[in-house]
Amino acid sequence: MIDYHLHTLFCNHAVGGMERYVQNAVDSGFREICFLDHLTIRTAGGCEEGVGRKTEPGLSMTPEEIPHYFYAVQILKQAYKNKISVKAGLEVDFNPDYTDYYQKIVDTFAFDVIAASLHFPNGFDIVTHRSGWRYGENDTDEVYEMYFDQLKKMLEYDYFDVICHIDLIKKFGRKPKKSFEIEYDNILGIIKDKGKTIEVNTSGYDHPARDIYPSLRILEKCYRKGISITMGSDAHHPANVGRHYKGVLPILLSIGYRRLAIFTKRQRGEVQIKE
Ligand SMILES: [Zn+2]
Ligand SMILES: [Zn+2]
Repeated sequence: MIDYHLHTLFCNHAVGGMERYVQNAVDSGFREICFLDHLTIRTAGGCEEGVGRKTEPGLSMTPEEIPHYFYAVQILKQAYKNKISVKAGLEVDFNPDYTDYYQKIVDTFAFDVIAASLHFPNGFDIVTHRSGWRYGENDTDEVYEMYFDQLKKMLEYDYFDVICHIDLIKKFGRKPKKSFEIEYDNILGIIKDKGKTIEVNTSGYDHPARDIYPSLRILEKCYRKGISITMGSDAHHPANVGRHYKGVLPILLSIGYRRLAIFTKRQRGEVQIKE
């Protein structure tokens, strides 16, 4: 099996040394894992490159740390090459002010995979414990609309291969009154046309949403459209490598999926799903 979404100490909100993640994956019989730590840049003030560039402490590595992070993964890749395949990826938070900068980063480092996430659509926090959204602030339908709007904007770019937890907006269990089926259909159509991969992220079972990202209904749509999937635990602790896989793998098989996407220097390959 594979786990394509592991965090590290670099993001300042995960715990455990990187090697512990690798060792746990080896002990659990994984054949390939991918570190996918955060790069989150939030706009503060101007948006010229270098001006107002801001990585908040506790959210992400800083751009200056990227070479150290990349190098740390290469060392583990080498050290464990006879036991497990270790890949280097980056979970890049969409911010339309920094897409040129993101492109520069992915052109500079030989990452195996680049994933796109939307934790702060339009700068609005939908994920952290400080989020007002979490505590019932803001109109649910309006925030969902804004989220889908930003997802569509994100899909105009090409610096990434995978879209992480595409329905993360449900994290805190807030449900819209309006149906967003048409929005999902449009967005999945774009993803299919662009040949991007959707991530199956098992961390949602530990969030108030108590569900996988994306939900079964969306995954069925993905399968019907022929969209490839990869899979990750979003572990911020070594013990969470492969969490909830036992429950999710039969769901993927029942939908019809037989393979998961893996990446080497941004070229997609695939492995068989094994329960
Ligand atoms: Zn994420
Ligand atoms: Zn993550």
